[in-house]
Formats: sequence, C-alpha cells, structure tokens
Amino acid sequence: ATIAGLLAATVARLPERPAVVFREQGVRWTWREFQAEVDAFAAGLLALGLEPGDRLGIWSPNRVEWLVTQFATARIGVILVNVNPAYRLAELEYALNVSGCRALVSAERLRSSDYLAMLHTLAPELDACAPGELRAARLPELATVIRMGEAASPGMFGYGEVLARGRARLDSAALDALTARLDCFDAINIQFTSGTTGSPKGATLSHHNVVNNARFIARAMRFSEADSLCIPVPLYHCFGMVLAVLACVSTGATMVFPGEVFDPAATLAAVAEERCTALHGVPTMFIAELDHPRFGEFDLSTLRTGIMAGSPCPIETMKRVVAQMNMAQVTIAYGMTETSPVSFQSSTSDPLERRVTTVGRIQPHLEAKVVDADGRVVPVGVTGELCVRGYSVMRGYWGDAARTREAVRDGWMHTGDLAVIDAEGYCNIVGRAKDMLIRGGENIYPRELEEFLFRHPKVQSVQVFGVPDARYGEEVCAWIVLKPGQQASEDEIRDFCRDQIAHYKIPRYIRFVEEMPMTITGKVQKFVMRDRMIEELK
Ligand code: ATP
Ligand code: MG
Repeated sequence: ATIAGLLAATVARLPERPAVVFREQGVRWTWREFQAEVDAFAAGLLALGLEPGDRLGIWSPNRVEWLVTQFATARIGVILVNVNPAYRLAELEYALNVSGCRALVSAERLRSSDYLAMLHTLAPELDACAPGELRAARLPELATVIRMGEAASPGMFGYGEVLARGRARLDSAALDALTARLDCFDAINIQFTSGTTGSPKGATLSHHNVVNNARFIARAMRFSEADSLCIPVPLYHCFGMVLAVLACVSTGATMVFPGEVFDPAATLAAVAEERCTALHGVPTMFIAELDHPRFGEFDLSTLRTGIMAGSPCPIETMKRVVAQMNMAQVTIAYGMTETSPVSFQSSTSDPLERRVTTVGRIQPHLEAKVVDADGRVVPVGVTGELCVRGYSVMRGYWGDAARTREAVRDGWMHTGDLAVIDAEGYCNIVGRAKDMLIRGGENIYPRELEEFLFRHPKVQSVQVFGVPDARYGEEVCAWIVLKPGQQASEDEIRDFCRDQIAHYKIPRYIRFVEEMPMTITGKVQKFVMRDRMIEELK
C-alpha cells in the first residue's frame, strides 16, 4: 500500500474517532478532519507546481504542520526530506542540496533558534524575490519556501496561505486519481540518519518500506483504535514518523503530541490528561521521566505498552518502566533509518525477562544473519556484525551509489552493529562495531561496562569509550553524570569495579561531567567525547 492508502483506509473505517491531538498548539482532529487538512495542503502544493518525484524538505520541531506535510506530500508522490530541527546553516545547506529540494516547509522559531533568520542568512536572495521564485547562490535547486506561523515574510509563502489556496481549488477526484497512479515502491522519503557516528546519511525509503514496517510494529504492540499513543520523540526521525505516526495511522490509534520538543513533565501530563495507553521514547527520555521530581503526581494507570528504542536500553530502566509506569507490555525495538527502521522487536507476548534483556526477534518477512570480519555466518551465540535483508531495506543513500554499495550487499544491510542471536532467535545488541575497543588484545564492549557502572548508586548515566593509547592500543574511558547533589571520586568508582569485573576493563580515565554530547534523537555522540579526551590527553 501507499502511505495515502494507509490513511484512507483508516479514515473510511473510523471517520469520527479522534486522530490527532497537538496539546501545545491546541489542535484536536478526527480522522476525517485530518484527511481534509491533508487534502487541502496537498492541493495547495500542487497549485505551487510541485510534482511527483520532487523533493520537499521540512525543517521543524513537532508541530501539526509537520504531520500534515508528511501526508500531503505522500498523497501526491512528492518525496519528503526530513531535516533535523537541530540543524544549523551548514547542515541545512547540505541536507537540502544533497537531496535537491525544490521546496522547503520551515518552522518560524523555537526557543533560541530563529529558523527564518537562519534561512535569510543562507539565502539573502529571499528578500528580493517573489514567493516561489527563489534563486539562491547557496541553494541552487530551492525555489519555494513555505513558512509556518502567522507573520508574513519576504520571499516566502505562508503555510495558511497554501492551505487556503488548496482548499479553494480542491478537486478530490483529481487528487484520488493522482494518488492511485503512485507506485508503492517509489521513493517517498529521504531520512537522514542521526549522525551518532559522524555525518548523517540520507536513506531513501519507499511507501512499501515504511508502511509495512509500521504495520508489523503495531501488530507486535497489539495496537487498535482503542489505543492512544503519547509521542514525545521527534517527528523528523523514523522513530516518530514510522514507529509512532504510521503505526497509529495503520490501526486508528490516536496520536497525542505533548509539545514541540521533549519535556518530561509535559509528556507525563499528556499521558495522564489524555488517558494514553502507550508511550514511546528513547531510554534517555524514560530516565528523565522516571527521575522527574514531580513523577509521582501523574496518574499513569492507563498506560499499557510503548516502545523503547534507538539506543541500548538499560535493563534497570526497563524494569522501572514496567513497575513504576505501569507499562507491563512495553516492547523494545532495534532498528536503523536504513531499514525503515525496525528489524527486531519484542512482542507483548514475550516473557518480561526476554523483553528486558534482548531486542526480541526478527520481524516477519525479514531475514537476519550474524557474520564475522570475513563475512562468514558465525555459530549461534557468537558475536558478530548483524546483517538484515528483506522488504524494509532502503532503496539506497540518496545520490551516493558508492556508500550504498558498501552498506547493502546482495540485499543485506550491513548494520555496523555487533549482535548475538540465541537458539530461539532472540537478539542481543552488543554495541556498535565502531565503539568496540581493543585494549592489549582484549575485546571490550562498552555496553557491558555501562550496564555495570550504571548500578552504582550515585551514577545517573554513564558512557564508556576507547581512547588511543601508546602502550595498549586503546584505553578505557568512562564519562559519568552523577545524580543531583552527589559527589564521587575516581577511586571510589574504581573500587566499585574491583573484584567485580576483569581488571583490564576497569576504566583508566574517569571524568565527571554535567551532560553528555547528544543528537536531538537523544543519542550520545561518542565520537565527540573521544575527540575531547584525545585533546585533553595530548
Ligand atoms: P549515524 O548512522 O548517522 O551515525 P545512527 O546510526 O545513530 O547515526 P539511526 O539510524 O537513527 O542513526 O540509529 C540506528 C542505530 O541506533 C543502530 O545502528 C544502533 O546502533 C542503534 N540502536 C537502535 N535501536 C537500538 C537498540 N534497541 N539497542 C541498541 N542500539 C540500538
Ligand atoms: Mg547508523
């Protein structure tokens, strides 16, 4: 099916059920109302001259316009390019130019980020051009900018203006005919990876990739129209767009957005007040919610399920989520942007112990294998690189055949993650191949050490990585954020390790920090930490 087909089926089945709640913007729509908004904006985009196959970028935090744009572009076959709202000029320029965006929908501002001002810096030509006729030196392909919000801006269309134009000339039959001609194997979305390990790559995904992935995700959680999902994860990332939005659209579950950016209290309030049955998040979000001073004030008794994914999920956190947030049916998912994204997910029927210790089993209709450095499949229970093949593997990195060939070989996506799969098919993600360190010939997996150090009562979060060392090749370094008001010494941490873990794994360098460098998806950027340590140790 196409994305438009997925939405149309739910609208036909549940027209008057609640579809979308954006609390910060005060929007509450039924499925019918949502579809009407989508169609109006789709017609507006057609009126601006956009055609199937064109690329349209969106640069915004979680706003209702984002959601409408996602489905309006899918309705007319325009390829949506998700631009990280944390991007600044150079990254924006890169993302728009790499994907050849003809149009951009941009937010106005968010806290200290003034999106429109940044756009004017990048394209000063906006001041002198008519809307839709931009010719900017640094953004050669971009002709049209649509800004969200109320105020007028030189050189840009207003979102409301495009919507009104579309509403006035909406021809549903023509729109339906156009949608019916779309091929579900065509590219519909370019998603940039998180940039955890370096510069983000633009994964090109089809309707077929994401729609089917969403269906299997929803099935593993037993989603239905009786559910309502609280979505604090960013829409620009596949976690928000596929695991949250498309999973809801495929089942008729209500989407509840607490706010433009993640805030633990606003998320908990949304769950309590909207009576949500499900909550998604990366582990850092769940930790922030559980540790929030007002945690006990919110009634979370309606929660049942949700997904924790995106980075390693500490077992302790999983157990607290089950016990303190009432999420007995929480599932873990593992995936990557390049596989649309989920390939492994635990299901609500897996025993709890399995759900907290593994990422579950391979999704239906996908294959997995674990290989050694020479590409040979390793025996069950042995660690190696995880590879995934099947319907969800991306079409490629946009405009980068060389990198695509390196990542996808014979249809197998080489994930770059180290994993072990047991005899029953449950998978354990050991860590990123890039993060594994070798100290004096011993393999050290940061994840294992992080799990151990996390058990120290003063530790709020911990990250372990390797730094180059003349004698051992690499040395173990740990960055620790202590719980509020706590003090600790390096020796205290080392004493905690002694007799508990092998001596060579005990961190040589320990640093207490206020926070970890993170991507907006809540992933810790170890390469940034490593660079800082290398600088410090010079
Ligand atoms: P980049 O590829 O740009 O460096 P990234 O790999 O973080 O960034 P994403 O596609 O957002 O970009 O994330 C996919 C990666 O996230 C996986 O390859 C894996 O390392 C990690 N990951 C996702 N889910 C899990 C999980 N449940 N447990 C452990 N790691 C996970
Ligand atoms: Mg990656």
